Amino acid sequence: MTASSVKSCDVLIVGAGPVGLFGAYYAGVRTLSTVVLDSLEEPGGQITAMYPEKAIFDVAGFPAIKGRDLVAQLLEQAAPFKPHYLLGTQAVGLERGDGGFAVTTGSGDRIEARAIVITGGIGTFTPRPLPTGGEYLGRGLVHFVPEPAAYADHDIVVVGGGDSALDWALMLEPIGRSVTIVHRRGEFRAHQHSVELLKRSSVRIITDAQVSAVHGDPEVERVEITVKGADEPVVVTASKLVAALGFTANLGPLMEWGLDIQKRQIMVDTAGRTSVPGIYAAGDIVDYEGKVKLIATGFGEVATAVNNAFAYLNPGMSAFPGHLSDYAPAPGEAPAVASPTA
Ligand SMILES: Cc1cc2nc3c(=O)[nH]c(=O)nc-3n(C[C@H](O)[C@H](O)[C@H](O)COP(=O)(O)OP(=O)(O)OC[C@H]3O[C@@H](n4cnc5c(N)ncnc54)[C@H](O)[C@@H]3O)c2cc1C
Repeated sequence: MTASSVKSCDVLIVGAGPVGLFGAYYAGVRTLSTVVLDSLEEPGGQITAMYPEKAIFDVAGFPAIKGRDLVAQLLEQAAPFKPHYLLGTQAVGLERGDGGFAVTTGSGDRIEARAIVITGGIGTFTPRPLPTGGEYLGRGLVHFVPEPAAYADHDIVVVGGGDSALDWALMLEPIGRSVTIVHRRGEFRAHQHSVELLKRSSVRIITDAQVSAVHGDPEVERVEITVKGADEPVVVTASKLVAALGFTANLGPLMEWGLDIQKRQIMVDTAGRTSVPGIYAAGDIVDYEGKVKLIATGFGEVATAVNNAFAYLNPGMSAFPGHLSDYAPAPGEAPAVASPTA
C-alpha cells in the first residue's frame, strides 16, 4: 500500500511503535478506518530498531517475551481490522480544515484524516557517535545488534552504561568469545536487575574509562581504552565494537504542528487529548504529571486516546468500547463489535 493510494481515513496514527500498533487494534475495534505511518521501514519502533532479541519482562500477561515476538503479536492482534501501514513514510506537514486534517508526508503524499493519534515515541532517532573510531561504522562498529547470532565467536566491546549497553552485553555474553563493557562513569545507569546480572556474568567491566582509539584494517581488530588515573591505556582485542551511547531524538516536523510541547514532549490530558481538538497522543512522546515511560503505560494511554477519538468523531457515543471478551474473532475475521451508545 502506498501513500498515494490512501486518500482519507477516520484516524491517522503517526508512529508504528508498540503503542501505535496497539492503537491500530483499538481503532479497528471501534470500526474506524485507520492508516498507520512510520518513517522506519519496519513496524515496532524502538523495539525493532534497538532490542528485537531482548526479553521484555514487564508487559502485563507476559512473564517474558522477546521484543520481536511482542511486535509480531501486536501486528497479529490488529490484523483482522486491516489497518493500512505506510512504512518508510514520515509525517511532515499538518493542515487543518473543517472536516479534519490533512497530513503531508516526506514523499509528498497527502492523507486526509478526521482525527489523528500521535504515537511518535522519541521521534526520529539517531545514535550518538563514539568520540573516536566513527570511520569503522560497517567495518565492525555498530550501533544496533539486530542479529546477535552473527556475533558468535567474536571478541566484543560494548561501550555505554545505560540499558541498551547492558542488555547487549548480557545478550552477547553466551554468544561471543568474550565481551567487555566500557563505561565512562563509575556507576551504570541501567535497571538495577541488569547491573546485578552483569556483575555476576563473565563480562569484563571497565569503568571510568573511554575508548581513545580503534585499530584494524579494514575491520576493527583492537580497541584502546583510557582509564581514569591509569598511566597506560588498556588494549582489548575485539572484532566487534558496539557503541550504545544513546540517541539524539528529533521530534522534527511534529514540533511545528502547533501542539503544546514542553521539554520536547506533547502535553496531553487524561483523555489523551493534545491542545488541538481532534489530535490525540500516547506513549513515549507524551507527558503529564506522573508520566512513566513504559510499554505498559503506553498501551493504556493509547486505548484511552483512540476510544476518546472515537467519541470525538461520533458525538453522543461512549468512549467506553464495552468488554471485548464476548467478541473473539474467528481466525482471519474482524470481530463484529457494536459500539455502545452513551
Ligand atoms: C534498549 C531499550 C530497552 C527497553 N526495554 C524496555 C522494557 O523492558 N520494558 C518497557 O516497558 N520499555 C522498555 N523500553 C522503552 C520502550 O521501548 C518504549 O517505552 C516504547 O518503545 C515506546 O513506544 P512508542 O510506540 O510510544 O514509541 P517508539 O517505540 O519510539 O515508536 C515511535 C515510532 O514513531 C515513528 N515516528 C516518529 N516521528 C514520526 C514521524 N514524523 N512520521 C512517521 N513516523 C514517526 C518512529 O520512527 C518510531 O517507529 C526500552 C527502550 C530501550 C531503548
